[in-house]
Amino acid sequence: MANARRDDDTPAVPELLEVERYRQGALAVVGRTIVGVDAPDAWFLKRGLTAPVARATLAGHTIAGWRRRGKLLLMDTDGPVLGLRFGMTGRLLVDGAQSIDGLEYGPRRGDVSWHRFGLRLAPAGSLVLEDPRRLGGIELDPDEDALGPDALTITSRQLGQTLTASRAPLKAALLDQHRVAGLGNLLVDEILWRAGLDPARPANGLDGRQRGTLLRSMRRVLRELGDRGGSHTGDLQIARLPGARCPRDGATLQRRTIGGRTTYSCPAHQR
Ligand SMILES: [Zn+2]
Repeated sequence: MANARRDDDTPAVPELLEVERYRQGALAVVGRTIVGVDAPDAWFLKRGLTAPVARATLAGHTIAGWRRRGKLLLMDTDGPVLGLRFGMTGRLLVDGAQSIDGLEYGPRRGDVSWHRFGLRLAPAGSLVLEDPRRLGGIELDPDEDALGPDALTITSRQLGQTLTASRAPLKAALLDQHRVAGLGNLLVDEILWRAGLDPARPANGLDGRQRGTLLRSMRRVLRELGDRGGSHTGDLQIARLPGARCPRDGATLQRRTIGGRTTYSCPAHQR
């Protein structure tokens, strides 16, 4: 699979699974104290945050834990909460090392000019958010409730409520972080392909049985792809090429833009 030509319109954005690995990697710095803040890129600081404010607010505080909601990584301290967003190409370096080998489509070699935000820690170590394309960001005390329920823990009732309230295409609704948090392009295509659901059908057109199938597929894909190593390890991934055939039934896959993203689906078994 590593040698297959990729569709460069579907970059491997860090999705729930990648951010969860960042979270796990960052647990190594719990208990350390922030002694320095490096914020060389003002663009990367969001919602009015500035480098002097970040320094004044964070320095001296101890890292208490890490949480994740969807694709948002949250650093709890004995003071403020820091929110880290990874955009399309963001990576977290803990004590100088990545917890994920380069993202599937991202540049492989690090470059200090990609370091957008960093914390120096005592007694030793550092955290750095590296992001070649600068589409991620940092904010203080982010509004976590602007995000929908996390895809890993969403209940049947929550999923039913959010889908029946949307006339958008099913894929667009699942990508909408206000409805379900954490899913990106690759995960949604894999989930819908396995569930046999057409990504273009209206979200509110699913019956209860179909919503149940969707939820089981979501849980299974997150578990399996998490074990395999990330969002790019799905069974559909090998067929994300123009003209490719469905790995399940051999039908020629459809390639469309749905929810603003390049979408692969099977006209034979996804209805
Ligand atoms: Zn098929």
